[in-house]
Amino acid sequence: MINTIKINEKEFEMRPNTRRKRISVGIDSTGIYYIAYPSQFTHKMLNNALKNETHMNKIIARIEKNFLQTEKHSYKEGETFLFSGFPYTLKYKKDDSIHPLELIGNSFFLSKNAIPLAYDLFEKWYARSLYAELNKILPYWTKTIGVQPLRINVKNVKTMWGSCSCKNNITFSTRLALVPPELLEYVVVHELCHLKEMNHSQEFWAKVAEYLPDYKIRRNTLKKNASLYRW
Ligand SMILES: [Zn+2]
Repeated sequence: MINTIKINEKEFEMRPNTRRKRISVGIDSTGIYYIAYPSQFTHKMLNNALKNETHMNKIIARIEKNFLQTEKHSYKEGETFLFSGFPYTLKYKKDDSIHPLELIGNSFFLSKNAIPLAYDLFEKWYARSLYAELNKILPYWTKTIGVQPLRINVKNVKTMWGSCSCKNNITFSTRLALVPPELLEYVVVHELCHLKEMNHSQEFWAKVAEYLPDYKIRRNTLKKNASLYRW
């Protein structure tokens, strides 16, 4: 069971940690607000640490600014770009590189003279990475569910995560390259289940639940955090 508390209309997950010495407030890669604190903290100590409302408001504003800036990037150094649920910092690199955009360590490296093309470069990079990831997880899920899609497409669709045509072709949104693996897994299972049930009937959701009993949590998280998964 997960403990949560509400501060200024925001729900925070309480995460006690035995190795922790200080309290820390943040927002994780799936968009969940959390308060991590030393396990040995008493109720009173926690309350004291959290009661300063102005201070908490400042912290919330700061983490939201940092995290939600993924909504409108201007491709400046220091901006954050998500990949597979994790944030990476943008840095510029020397212009003589063959690859205008690369992921190295904790950063995306973009050639300075490629800044005007950054959106398209990220799109291609994300699409390629998503194909690679899908190639890894699809064999397991097609076998488990017992379906075989005719074609898998990755397209830069912004209004939906995935779709399934009556010809057994499945299209995934490039934006899925940005979401945490468990959310990508949910969309994959959802679309594959459509090869058996071409609707959102009770039978369809029962099928999804058979493979992912916690699908509702994943679906809600994806819905709630949709605006974060942009580049
Ligand atoms: Zn559907």
